[in-house]
Amino acid sequence: MKHYPTARPHITKWDERHVLEALRSGILSIGPYIEKFEKKFARVVGTKYACAVSSGTAGLHLALIAAGIGKGDEVITTPFSFVASANAILYVGAKPVFVDIDPVTYNIDPAKIEARITKRTKAIMPVHIFGQPAQMDAIMNIAKKHKLVVIEDACESLLSTFNGKRAGTFGQSAVFAFYANKQMTTGEGGMLVTDDKRIDALCRSLRNQGRAPNMQWLDHDRLGYNYRMDEMSAALGLSQLKNIKFLIRKRRELAGWYTKALAPLSHLVTVPKTARKATNTWFVYVIALKNAKLGRDALIEKLKKRGVHTRPYLPSIHLFKFYRSLGYKKDACPVSVATSKRTLALPFYIGLTKRDVACIAKILKDTMTNAI
Ligand SMILES: *Cc1c(COP(=O)(O)O)cnc(C)c1O
Repeated sequence: MKHYPTARPHITKWDERHVLEALRSGILSIGPYIEKFEKKFARVVGTKYACAVSSGTAGLHLALIAAGIGKGDEVITTPFSFVASANAILYVGAKPVFVDIDPVTYNIDPAKIEARITKRTKAIMPVHIFGQPAQMDAIMNIAKKHKLVVIEDACESLLSTFNGKRAGTFGQSAVFAFYANKQMTTGEGGMLVTDDKRIDALCRSLRNQGRAPNMQWLDHDRLGYNYRMDEMSAALGLSQLKNIKFLIRKRRELAGWYTKALAPLSHLVTVPKTARKATNTWFVYVIALKNAKLGRDALIEKLKKRGVHTRPYLPSIHLFKFYRSLGYKKDACPVSVATSKRTLALPFYIGLTKRDVACIAKILKDTMTNAI
């Protein structure tokens, strides 16, 4: 029986060569690879600056600090996300205020934002989920009207666009992540992008123990962190970035195969839809069961027995035990909660063939029709 994992990175011999070169160079942190990776990343995404960090979560933490967000502040965000986006808000002592999502794109619903703005609201953190940007025109208008900072969690949506403009170029800053399941990987790693020189300089200091920008000085200007990226990761990042058009083209092709293969199941599952003004770079391929009674968790177990490894994607953050202990209510954000119960991520990685996709679709069909 063939096993299909949910995700796996695409690593080439060029990637291996780059990493080995970094390893042999004698400089293993904050060296030439980081600088090259940052410069190229900024150019590719279309921002003035890019600052490499040790993870996407670290990048979000720094973006919030750099925006001056702290104790007593509120940040509007989405509960339908990886937990890191809300956690970063808690790190700075601020309160995540969860706004429900659009039932089609699973991104934050801009129509529901204004009702949640208070005197304490300082920022909006939209998360561009699953590879497609949130509705950034509406979000930027609201932010402007209420003088709020926008920090984009673009960790899942490298090079996607909204109205022809790239994710990560709308807000004061944006963060990308390079964990092994993302469009490109550095193992662990992230990138904070901005057009604001002051924010870039501040984040460079914060990632390096608060040290002044001139590394000669053993001087510490502020409370900082060790959020540095190492040179081997940056070398892998640079190599992956050189290949990013191919990586995204392949993901789009794969998504197209799935959508075709799943068409005969349209009475049972909903396939992902990309919003009219958006393009999608396909972090994952997530389907939704039309009827929650079909039993998503049991389906995941049955698929696993047949070698198809899927995941519930995503749980709503405000329902996690820890968040419930902070006082978040079960009945908040009902669209997100209902979506969380019905959605699962299918195996999605470069290397899956059209035949594999047909095979996975067949296993899904057999499993679901037997379940009814
Ligand atoms: C991957 C991801 C992050 C960052 O994750 P790290 O593992 O810290 O790199 C943040 N937000 C979202 C939505 C993500 O998918």
